Amino acid sequence: MHVLRGITLVVLCLAAFAAARVAETGQEEPIDRRTQPSRPAYESERLGELRYSSGHPEHTAESDGQYYYTRKGSDQDADAAPEHMDEFLDQQDAEDAGLESESIGSPLVGNKLLCPDVGRTCFRYKRDSPLRPECWSGLDSSILVEGSRGQKFPLNSCCNLDGKFQSPIKIYFPPRIEKRRGTLNYDNDEVEGYLENNGVYYKYIVTSEKPTLRGTPNEDGLGYVLDSVHFHIGKRGDKRQTEHVIHGRSYSAEAHVVHHREDYPNLEEASAHPDGILVIAVMLKRKAEKSRAFNTLFSNFAEVRRYTAADFDNVCALENRRLANLELSGIVEEDGECLKANSNRQSDNCGILESGPGCGVHVTGIKLNPRSLLPRVPRYFTYEGGLTSPPCTEATLWLVAEKPKGITRSTLDLLYMMETRIRKTEIGDHGNLRPLQKRHGRTIRRIQYKKARL
Ligand SMILES: [Zn+2]
Repeated sequence: MHVLRGITLVVLCLAAFAAARVAETGQEEPIDRRTQPSRPAYESERLGELRYSSGHPEHTAESDGQYYYTRKGSDQDADAAPEHMDEFLDQQDAEDAGLESESIGSPLVGNKLLCPDVGRTCFRYKRDSPLRPECWSGLDSSILVEGSRGQKFPLNSCCNLDGKFQSPIKIYFPPRIEKRRGTLNYDNDEVEGYLENNGVYYKYIVTSEKPTLRGTPNEDGLGYVLDSVHFHIGKRGDKRQTEHVIHGRSYSAEAHVVHHREDYPNLEEASAHPDGILVIAVMLKRKAEKSRAFNTLFSNFAEVRRYTAADFDNVCALENRRLANLELSGIVEEDGECLKANSNRQSDNCGILESGPGCGVHVTGIKLNPRSLLPRVPRYFTYEGGLTSPPCTEATLWLVAEKPKGITRSTLDLLYMMETRIRKTEIGDHGNLRPLQKRHGRTIRRIQYKKARL
């Protein structure tokens, strides 16, 4: 009798739970994970809501422009099941145990660490912060992302210090110049976009039809589509003011012109493939050759100098109170332990690679000729590396221009004075340069192209 009553109770509970789930999923999400038992379920988080999905971890841009993140499914049914579902949940826990014990993979594909960029991470350049560059690989480690071959791993595990293709590096002069017969140039001479301060750097994002860079050193001769431009500078007074150091020399600042391979739709997808991204690094120096395109951007810096995202510290409003306390009290020890903090992802979409409206004041309608971003002397150092900020994916073909472009003292001041995500902090207080990474025997080539017309 007891057994029968037990079974009846379980059946009733199952029916009630199924009804609850149908009602819930009917409103919110058409996919019921129980209909696809062969694929693991993921918990996605968006603006504080919990949603269910099946199959791919949800780092897909939805039509509303928001991002979905996948976390390890530890408390999956926490808000879905009423209290009397204990028995059912026990059963679910047992099933989920398989998911829990699933080993977390590595982002290593071939010899490269490949991490797709799915949004933003709270990280610091401050040298004694528990979120300093040496700590980046552990940040947001509860978020698992899926690589190009279906493997799953923590979001920023490509910032691992053992990576063999990390950036930036010291550039040495290779013994010979490879002369190319063709040019390196864009297939269009005007783009339009907007400038923002995303709390890490000034960033210009192309919104018009994006031009393709032709003549790249990609082995298959593929072009790269222009996505955005951003700027790096060192701590005020430091000797090193650029990410890359060329033959022992650092200039006044460094611009990164970011592209994705033409056969990928965006940076996010390209970032999970070994040659998905191409970045042209242009050194900036006082009294060097002027660039109309850069000057157009410089003339708008003052407009976005303040960090005006809706919630001032929206990305770095950490769930981890300990960090906030440490930083407020100022007692963060040099070389102290790294904190495995989680960023506040319940904020607007103001990412590093994938930006959109939400980073506060923008200057829109900025038109420029992308060809004027390139150096007049078309000579570059090229090597295989990675992004210099999280997720540090080793998916980047670098072209470091040998000759610098010009920048004025007052523009350099505006770079130093850009307000960062961290309250009352400007870039110049800590810089936004990642420490130099080991070259690990990588070859650097020096390529000279034919001069292109503007
Ligand atoms: Zn950069």
